[in-house]
Amino acid sequence: MRVAIAGAGLAGLACAKYLSDAGHTPVVYEARDVLGGKVAAWQDEDGDWYETGLHIFFGAYPNVLQLFAELGIGERLQWKSHSMIFNQKEPAGSYSRFDFPDLPAPLNGVAAILGNNDMLSWPEKISFGLGLVPAMLRGQAYVEECDQYSWSEWLRLHNIPERVNDEVFIAMSKALNFINPDEISSTVLLTALNRFLQEKNGSKMAFLDGNPPERLCQPIVEHIRARGGEVHLQAPLRQIQLAEDGAVAGFEIAGIKGQAGKTVQADAYVSALPVDPFKLLLPEPWKAMPFFSKLAGLRGVPVINIHLWFDRKLTNIDHLLFSRSELLSVYADMSNTCREYEDPQRSMLELVFAPAHDWIARPDAEIIAATLTELERLFPQHFSGDNPARLRKSKVVKTPLSVYKTVPGCQALRPTQATPIPNFFLAGDYTLQRYLASMEGAVLSGKLCAEAVAG
Ligand SMILES: Cc1cc2nc3c(=O)[nH]c(=O)nc-3n(C[C@H](O)[C@H](O)[C@H](O)COP(=O)(O)OP(=O)(O)OC[C@H]3O[C@@H](n4cnc5c(N)ncnc54)[C@H](O)[C@@H]3O)c2cc1C
Repeated sequence: MRVAIAGAGLAGLACAKYLSDAGHTPVVYEARDVLGGKVAAWQDEDGDWYETGLHIFFGAYPNVLQLFAELGIGERLQWKSHSMIFNQKEPAGSYSRFDFPDLPAPLNGVAAILGNNDMLSWPEKISFGLGLVPAMLRGQAYVEECDQYSWSEWLRLHNIPERVNDEVFIAMSKALNFINPDEISSTVLLTALNRFLQEKNGSKMAFLDGNPPERLCQPIVEHIRARGGEVHLQAPLRQIQLAEDGAVAGFEIAGIKGQAGKTVQADAYVSALPVDPFKLLLPEPWKAMPFFSKLAGLRGVPVINIHLWFDRKLTNIDHLLFSRSELLSVYADMSNTCREYEDPQRSMLELVFAPAHDWIARPDAEIIAATLTELERLFPQHFSGDNPARLRKSKVVKTPLSVYKTVPGCQALRPTQATPIPNFFLAGDYTLQRYLASMEGAVLSGKLCAEAVAG
């Protein structure tokens, strides 16, 4: 079967990979000149890489880990110590750690929480632990029911003090969906906590050893091509053409840079676009169908990824850090965490700026200035005195519509991979699968889509 797939993010590439494994011929059409979508990256004039997002892989990503194993690139994941490290508000420049000992789950998670006395008091730990009991006993069904509440509402319902939010969950909520706990659906936090508490290595983190287009996407493309599939860049889907019976008759691919456009025909068609551009391409007759019209409630959230190259080493920490800053979410010194970006003398900080709603339209210079002010608190020893760290260069990557914003009520809006149109399918992290808007969700959606296409 020949399958036309629009979009070469992880969902589209995973879909093509699993279709080619099943003996089908996928043909992928990507709008941009770079693979990866939200994991795309580029090189600057000095050869340094900058990325759409700082990306962390978790032990609780079975489909991503399986994909790495199938491609024979498992060693490209650089696993870090099993810990979560938060910046402490006071004193500036200090850290608080949750260290997971080598025990079975959930004991290792419980030990990590009980062992941290900087952030939560004993009564807070106990009230939070009791709040989580229904999630642990009833599992995913309970987690889904909680989609009616924001995380702040869920904490209030369980009489958990607001301070628990301030200490831990503002940071986690921003890391998971780039928004604050009063906006995020409690399903998101409960899903992550459930995975972390039920799987021994669920919260263990890894960094890719280099830029994602070459180190992760290219091997998928080679796998697809070796089995007769195709991947085309700079080939944007412009229109989904319909036959008289309502099925898809073809994908109209626009010609760019003076090239002629074309209509491609296949046995099945897949949109692996993000939800926002997909909605713009919905054919008129589909707009009234509830399956597609409910997508109006899903919308990408803005986020900004910042890269700062310094003249010296700011830290030797080889891990992700939760900044607990109002403007920033997580960050890492990529000169320590990632082999390809390694520099023993000078730091390259990659920082996620979120929530970004009020900042996305502002000039890069303002965003960098605000970030540097935050760094004075995170690294006071390097930004005070008469020889402060000097910023060599910076790069700001803005994504105005990134992953869908997981506010309460979104779970019911997520579409399945099979659609009411018999020869048309969806892949993408926003489609229905048990992992949220993440690399794992994107890969799983691609796999489920391939299964749906192959019937
Ligand atoms: C700043 C940031 C940090 C993140 N951190 C993490 C993390 O730490 N861990 C994690 O698991 N996830 C993280 N994510 C989320 C993760 O990147 C996404 O969930 C995942 O990559 C989405 O994959 P996708 O294939 O569903 O969509 P996308 O990656 O958006 O792929 C869609 C593709 O479709 C293409 N396209 C659009 N329109 C057209 C068209 N008309 N024709 C053809 N192609 C088109 C796009 O160019 C793109 O390549 C982060 C995301 C961001 C932005």
